[in-house]
Amino acid sequence: MKPQVVHCPNCSAPLHVAMGETEVLCEYCASKLRFVPGHAELEVVRTREEMKRRERVDVQKAILEKQLRQEELARWRETAAHVAIKAMPVVGEAVGRAAFRTAVSHAGGAGCGCMSSLLALGGLLAGLLALL
Ligand SMILES: [Zn+2]
Repeated sequence: MKPQVVHCPNCSAPLHVAMGETEVLCEYCASKLRFVPGHAELEVVRTREEMKRRERVDVQKAILEKQLRQEELARWRETAAHVAIKAMPVVGEAVGRAAFRTAVSHAGGAGCGCMSSLLALGGLLAGLLALL
């Protein structure tokens, strides 16, 4: 599923929002945003300036964690695809292709069960690496 692109009503930065998500944090201005029910539009719940210190820290943390997850996912996919191609002659094309597919098919965002696919992929990779 493609994430929809909307713009932050506070700073108008483009935001990639996963389908079904109702609350969003703007990675640029750190505002809390929420979808207006029935509309594909966001409204500002609170801007960074309006938050209390604790809340601000929490939002910043959530944004960082999200970015970290995305970077990790990208790195994983790259490594996994690389290993799968390398391992193909060793483990046979069918297994190699399956591993490659696993590696490239998890492009989702938060809340799509990525952690479990990453764990499964990790086990697969460990198995492949042991063969190399
Ligand atoms: Zn913003």
